[in-house]
Amino acid sequence: MKYLGGIFLFVVLLIIDTKPTEAVCGYESCPETKPNMVNIHLVPHSHDDVGWLKTVDQYYYGHKNNIQHAGVQYIIDTVITELIKDPKRRFIQVETSFFAKWWEQQKETHKQVVKKLVNEGRLQFTNGAWSMNDEAAVNYQSVIDQFTVGLKFLDETFGICARPRVGWQIDPFGHSREQASLYAQMGYDGEFFSRMDHSDKFRRMVDLALEMVWDASESLSEVKLFTGLLYNHYWDTPGFCFDVHCNDDPIIDGDSYDNNVKSRVDDFIAFAAKVAANFRTTHIMIPMGGDFQYEDAEVNFKNMDKLIKYVNARQATGSHYNIFYSTPGCYLNSVHQGLQSYPNKTLDFFPYASDSNSFWTGYYTSRPTQKRFERDGNHMLQTAKQLSVFAGLSSEQQKEDLDYLRQIMGVMQHHDAITGTEKQEVSNDYDRLLYDGIIGGASNARDALRVLTNLPEGEFESCLQLNISECAFTKDSADNVVVTLFNPLAHTSSQYVRVPVKKESYQVTDEKGRVVASEVVPVAWQVLALEYRENNTQHELVFKASVNKIASYFIKKIETRENKEIVLPKSDKKSVKETEKNLEVPKRFKQVNSMKKVETHADDDSETVVQTSQIKLVIDNNTGRLKSVEMNGVVEDIEQKFGVYETSASGAYVFREVESTEMQFLTTDVEFTVYDGTLVKEVHQQFNEWISQVIRIYEGVNRVEFEWLIGPIPTDEDTGREIVTLFYSEISSNGVFYTDSNGREMIRREKDKREDFTPDLSRQPTSGNYYPVVSRIALQDSNKRIALLNDRAQGGTSMKDGQLELMLHRRLIRDDGYGVGEALNEQKYDKPLIARGKVYLILNSVEESTKVERVAEKEILLPFSVFFSKASSQSQTQSAIAKAVPSFDDFPPSVHLLTLEPFTDNEILLRVENFLDHIEGKVVSFNIRPIFDSLGGVEIRETTLDGNLPLSEMKRFKFHAEGSGAISTEAEYYTAAHKPLAADSSLEASEFSVTLHPMQIRTFIIKKK
Ligand SMILES: [Zn+2]
Repeated sequence: MKYLGGIFLFVVLLIIDTKPTEAVCGYESCPETKPNMVNIHLVPHSHDDVGWLKTVDQYYYGHKNNIQHAGVQYIIDTVITELIKDPKRRFIQVETSFFAKWWEQQKETHKQVVKKLVNEGRLQFTNGAWSMNDEAAVNYQSVIDQFTVGLKFLDETFGICARPRVGWQIDPFGHSREQASLYAQMGYDGEFFSRMDHSDKFRRMVDLALEMVWDASESLSEVKLFTGLLYNHYWDTPGFCFDVHCNDDPIIDGDSYDNNVKSRVDDFIAFAAKVAANFRTTHIMIPMGGDFQYEDAEVNFKNMDKLIKYVNARQATGSHYNIFYSTPGCYLNSVHQGLQSYPNKTLDFFPYASDSNSFWTGYYTSRPTQKRFERDGNHMLQTAKQLSVFAGLSSEQQKEDLDYLRQIMGVMQHHDAITGTEKQEVSNDYDRLLYDGIIGGASNARDALRVLTNLPEGEFESCLQLNISECAFTKDSADNVVVTLFNPLAHTSSQYVRVPVKKESYQVTDEKGRVVASEVVPVAWQVLALEYRENNTQHELVFKASVNKIASYFIKKIETRENKEIVLPKSDKKSVKETEKNLEVPKRFKQVNSMKKVETHADDDSETVVQTSQIKLVIDNNTGRLKSVEMNGVVEDIEQKFGVYETSASGAYVFREVESTEMQFLTTDVEFTVYDGTLVKEVHQQFNEWISQVIRIYEGVNRVEFEWLIGPIPTDEDTGREIVTLFYSEISSNGVFYTDSNGREMIRREKDKREDFTPDLSRQPTSGNYYPVVSRIALQDSNKRIALLNDRAQGGTSMKDGQLELMLHRRLIRDDGYGVGEALNEQKYDKPLIARGKVYLILNSVEESTKVERVAEKEILLPFSVFFSKASSQSQTQSAIAKAVPSFDDFPPSVHLLTLEPFTDNEILLRVENFLDHIEGKVVSFNIRPIFDSLGGVEIRETTLDGNLPLSEMKRFKFHAEGSGAISTEAEYYTAAHKPLAADSSLEASEFSVTLHPMQIRTFIIKKK
């Protein structure tokens, strides 16, 4: 009967409520507060993970409630019904992916009701991104993208009243400075979160420092953001969870023996007093909600109504507690008007320790292949976006496919997706979604290339398994294959391309018919031995390509060269030999080499030198490991090893060392073979039965590549294993090292230290020194510097001077007790997961700028996209460009083409970034009129970073930081730090000038003809 009553009431209110009213949203819609009282902002919210224990759709539909009782569609349904009942009620909607799905299924009349709630600030979108993204493993490009997608949906659906004003990152496991920086650049007024190192939180409570002003960029001066830590995590006040999932007492106010109004109000006020004692203003925020709460929102609101009524009733007898429904935005607005001063924060909140034995640093590496697949998704997304713009793709299917990939990438940023902290079934579902998304992106890329090149019927196949040298398109023959390369970067780039081929001789020519140097390289036998890999091709054809935006290369088989048979080096390393024998790999391998093999001897003191004109590597013949590196005029003894942490209590979230056991090094001698080509030199190493590696240097490329292959990692009942790669040098780094923040600015780390407090590292000395490495980790002394770059997010540290460590793979035996309820023990193809990836080393003198590392970072994140087609003849590839594609080559060298994508049907979104920081770079200016013209622009306007708000309308809260002069007597704001660009095609070219400070990103919407 309850539901019938609900429906009746709903219908009545619906009739009343759709009458037009004047919209008062944003801060104007905030509840009144009372001076000289403790104002309690009660914030109803639901934390709805975009996948975790259940898949995204299972959560949405309330499917598989045996795993976890959760159904987001019902949450939104019932919340809306409850909001309609009383204009004082408030609710915040956080995850736009769920809301958008719900919205799609509503009738027009109901949509009108919801719009009214939004326009009156009763339903307030908070955070508003597609998902609540992780902050450790994500790349800034993908964070910006997923905010763009979420905020665009809100803007197009509701307009300005739906624009979120505050960040709400209440569940991610540690917080990055770059996230705060992005919020500021999107015009957010502040952010709130709830996880912080326990010692840090304790200290901040004492110092009234739970709220602070974060200096979120070392390069950008106005990028400061108010940041607040929730007092009691994001869950309801203890004892006051009124949700149907909870067992706390309701408020019983009738004529009943159980009437508990007095005790409930006493308890609540006591809690509020405790909270108020830890904050600087007369306002406190008390969230009312938790994971997937409000599925029957009437229960929550009915009890909160009573709580409000009876707490406020006490004011008549002198109570100074004033409570009301509110939102994080309204709370922040009150705090802003409170004109207090706040402590400063300059670094970040990593690592997160929930207690002295639990540092959440394992998830930096958990699910290494999923973390890599997410990068593949980003690569395809950027490629498809740019190509869609160039080719003017506009069919419904094409738009749908691109949107789908955008949205899936938003899902992948979620704090239980890219983190690897979801259940295995959910991980499989993410793989499925992302794979579908990538296929749609690839289809757009193909459609675009058919328009843009003179191969209107080209297949433009993207081979997604090139990492294990597998490509269906070339498996039978690479003869007459056209390789079309797309360069997502702004500037012309030269990179090596590898094509899986059979052992034959080939000639590669460019679009002008000129022969390009190429050679055939054997694929490491350990890769050939992968049971799930087809072995039609056992070699790779390597050539160097130079591409502005699009270029094609033509492969032809030639009959001239003889196939040389190479015999594997004689080996007395038993284990390797047996492995090879068991796999019957050597036989295949023997047949497949066409390069000169350097004879290696295991004589004492002897070494093997492998070098290009830029880099010299010395391999110790005794150990088989790297011994020294010479490049950029610097020589350094650099030893590279693999290490294993044997752990029993680690889990998907936590990397937990077992007390008193040290890392195990793989000390057995390494079997190695050197392939000494003209373009590429490779050292193939076998460390044990489940770790191998190829060290690779290319002629003309100033970095050393370490391509690792790890797995299946053996475990037993008591031992899980976490595998690291280690680089030892003599560089006296003095405990200091540097890691990137989400692939952008670098942060200085000091072993055993934190910015604001003394961490308790007594039980976890290593894990407590782990930091997220999204793109780079480095150390230096006064002369030399080494940097490691990676191809996916990982955890890393420097435990000894001169030493860098990256965690590559983990296979565990137990759950760590933070909810996921499974041991991280990935199985693929009925075997423990095998992962492959790359780490790159750059050795340089410290006088040299780290600019080269920045350029390498971009090439690693966004290399050429490779597409394969068949051509009947070479002539077909000549002058392969059918339609002119804009060139961004005239941008200053430090300017990155961060985004180029279709926005609306006649608009393009363009982001440019100066990717050097204040130490590496300088202010650059250039003119974008040529690009504007070549994109067919008629009008251009500048927006905030997310692309959805005109920059001229940006006005965000400024808070006073301690020690920065006197506090103003009036509330202060930031507006755009420069004059926003706005121009149309009738204006002079000089109106199109763009200046970029180091690390500055500027965002434009270009309206097309
Ligand atoms: Zn969560």
